[in-house]
Amino acid sequence: MNAPADPKKLIKGATGDWEVVVGMEIHAQVTSKSKLFSGASTEFGGEPNDHVSLVDAAMPGMLPVINEECVAQAVRTGLGLKAEINLRSVFDRKNYFYPDLPQGYQISQYKSPIVGEGEVLVDMIDGTQIRVGVERLHLEQDAGKSLHDQHPTMSFVDLNRSGVALMEIVSKPDIRSADEAKAYVTKLRTILRYLGTCDGDMEKGSLRADVNVSVRKPGDPLGTRCEIKNVNSIRFIGQAVEAEARRQIGILEDGGVIKQETRLFDPGKGETRSMRSKEEAHDYRYFPDPDLLPLEFDQAYVDALAAHLPELPDAKKARFIAEYGLSPYDAGVLVAERDQADYFESVAKGRDGKAAANWVINELFGRLNKEGLDIGASPVSAAQLGAVVDLIGEGTISGKIAKDLFEIVWTEGGDPRALVESRGMKQVTDTGAIEKAVDEVIAANPDKVQQAIAKPTMLGWFVGQVMKQTGGKANPQSVNDLLKAKLGI
Ligand code: MN
Repeated sequence: MNAPADPKKLIKGATGDWEVVVGMEIHAQVTSKSKLFSGASTEFGGEPNDHVSLVDAAMPGMLPVINEECVAQAVRTGLGLKAEINLRSVFDRKNYFYPDLPQGYQISQYKSPIVGEGEVLVDMIDGTQIRVGVERLHLEQDAGKSLHDQHPTMSFVDLNRSGVALMEIVSKPDIRSADEAKAYVTKLRTILRYLGTCDGDMEKGSLRADVNVSVRKPGDPLGTRCEIKNVNSIRFIGQAVEAEARRQIGILEDGGVIKQETRLFDPGKGETRSMRSKEEAHDYRYFPDPDLLPLEFDQAYVDALAAHLPELPDAKKARFIAEYGLSPYDAGVLVAERDQADYFESVAKGRDGKAAANWVINELFGRLNKEGLDIGASPVSAAQLGAVVDLIGEGTISGKIAKDLFEIVWTEGGDPRALVESRGMKQVTDTGAIEKAVDEVIAANPDKVQQAIAKPTMLGWFVGQVMKQTGGKANPQSVNDLLKAKLGI
């Protein structure tokens, strides 16, 4: 059953509206010290061919041995995607020739993957939520890399990546716009990072997306799709969906047909171009790898892994809303990264959650962003920021002074409470002192007093003058009250 198309997501063409349909295959590198079937290191960087065992180089007679940690990581990921875990799965050979694939086949899973159907719930910026079905997750080996820029006439091969474990996560075609495609990958990446099963570092190639795009008139059956291979940034995923949908609409509106093929996205030109005609599964001559037994484990193994899963982003978000009274938007921002959420909780524990969220999101994240720093590199600790929130809450400093204090803690460090003492930043709540300042400002500006009586919005100018007089330390509420009383407005 097709859900009716959402008019907001449709693309306008010359012949009417079009709906874009997207499904994704994400290749996520498994976080593991060694490769899927060998003991060689998975470390990023290193000299070419430093991390290559005889198995990875496909020397004759070498036998693959499954890495149990990679299996556990795949099961954890399946659990995090609320997916069916298959207690029996099979490794197959996917046969093809490529210079950086010395075996002449990739060990993958075809008919019996380790993880079956699951789902990802994705919050959109407008507050709506979409559900993207997960078709399957299977384990497979990565290939090596051909180097074409090392020598004028020869190409070299680096097998460091050869045999590294990948999880291929295949979604259902449930995505209906470029924004949804970006939000889906962002959410999936967040879940993987919470689970610790993939670092999600797209710059290092730890997460790559193959994006399947087709278009149709709303209500029509699915159109022919094209697969855009190896898109390596969230922004490019959005651009690739847009560009490919426009290209297909153009062809169809000119009376043409879409050829099923594999394409590449060129970020410089903002367009996709043909790479090869799409191969079908039977082209790969899949068959069970005779070197590997079917992968089998029992439910107790799965349950033990499930028992040690961390709190995942959806659950954490719901808890932040319930426990700290946060808006869904603020909670969503905080849970996007696990260490951000942890930082927030350290600040919020035993304090006003909303005030803590405001300071973490607006002041701290704002400042970190500006400096291009991660939360782990924040010069202001959760304990220090908590002290700032306390000082405001108890009325020792005003919100305005708190920003100055935050700046001092950021640049110089130190205990916020001690800094307030030593630098005389305490808010003046002594009404006598405030009253004196109010009287002085009124006495010095008789013309403005007349104006303010005629036009009470002038009060703001007086508040500003009194704050200036007191070095920003007067309690703004007291200043307001006193001025209103004295001016009779
Ligand atoms: Mn694959």
